[in-house]
Amino acid sequence: MKILAVVGTRPEAVKFAPVIHAAARQPGIDMQVCVTGQHRALVDPVLKFFDIAVSHRLSVMRHNQDLAGLTTRVLEGVRGILLAERPDLMLVQGDTATCFASALAAFYERVPVGHVEAGLRTHELGAPFPEEGMRQMVSRLAAFHFAPTVANAAALEHEGIPAERIYLTGNTGIDAVLWARDRIRRTDPLASLEKKKRSQIQSAKRRVLITSHRRENFGEGIRNICEAVATLAARYPETAWVFPVHPNPEVGRCAQSHLGAIANVALLPPLEYPQFVALMDQSYFLISDSGGVQEEGSALQRPVLVTRSTSERTEAVLEGHALLVGTAHDSIVDAASRLLTSRGLYERMCSGACPFGDGAAANRILAILAREAGVTGKSLLAATA
Ligand code: UDP
Repeated sequence: MKILAVVGTRPEAVKFAPVIHAAARQPGIDMQVCVTGQHRALVDPVLKFFDIAVSHRLSVMRHNQDLAGLTTRVLEGVRGILLAERPDLMLVQGDTATCFASALAAFYERVPVGHVEAGLRTHELGAPFPEEGMRQMVSRLAAFHFAPTVANAAALEHEGIPAERIYLTGNTGIDAVLWARDRIRRTDPLASLEKKKRSQIQSAKRRVLITSHRRENFGEGIRNICEAVATLAARYPETAWVFPVHPNPEVGRCAQSHLGAIANVALLPPLEYPQFVALMDQSYFLISDSGGVQEEGSALQRPVLVTRSTSERTEAVLEGHALLVGTAHDSIVDAASRLLTSRGLYERMCSGACPFGDGAAANRILAILAREAGVTGKSLLAATA
């Protein structure tokens, strides 16, 4: 069975890596990887870390790219690869423009689509934008829906997707982060800091990790987050506040002007995945608006303060591993202060099983695909028609 997996951004590369590893272990599977180039500079180091060979490269990225142009270039580029390769199945992951446009190209060419990380929903088309729209549209096009959690599977069933097309697998991002954690023992996430700053941060009693990149938070949200970190840094001088800053210039300017001169704050460039996993692992807790970080924090037993008003990963909140704190200065400061001062709260937030998966999601996905292909004599389309 020939499968084409399409990767556009760093989270897709991270979450596809275990699937590609599992495919290599499964006899009879020819897994081809297409990189669209949506975020090329961020994807290549992830592929290198996971030792993944690329079969096809597109170059869809443009300076100041807009979603319509990006979608069009992925649609046309992926169509060309589909016509040349004629795979039995296309796999897409998540909720990006690459994911949606590739699924649409496959749909037009009558190639069945498997959607990895299906069923995440906020039910608000604007939050997160454009991801909520992208993943809802992919659910309309896919033939196989690999849902990380029971809630994700239920959301898909609620939308009328037949139960026998929904597979509860766990999230492959958990497979990836556990795999990575076992390989980064000697990785130093602070290597880019100059010597004095580095020893200052290393000698702190605790480390808190901050990230922010959601479009909805640009402007007031990111300003509030930076001001809250400045307040916390002054209130807890024995704690190091470490912030790998997203390449968006607005995030960079804001972080620099509010936090650049504070001794116990370290502003880092965006980190490569192994360094980032090492930093999460070494941190006491995380403050983040990232989707993947909510899952990874839960798997690494690091509490996450989520700087968003809504989340498609409510499992972490329900399990007690994450708190939705929004982007108001006081609510971030209050929640972080409680975590730093209440040992009981901290331990409760670290305990319990990760609701997003157990590290075996990719093996489940491959076993399902092998079974489906066996049942249908390799024609997955027949099974889904
Ligand atoms: N990540 C990284 N370096 C960073 C920040 C994040 O490698 O400086 C990783 C993180 O571990 C996770 C993924 O990037 O696997 C999450 O990506 P992002 O937060 O950009 O997207 P989201 O998950 O919100 O879609």
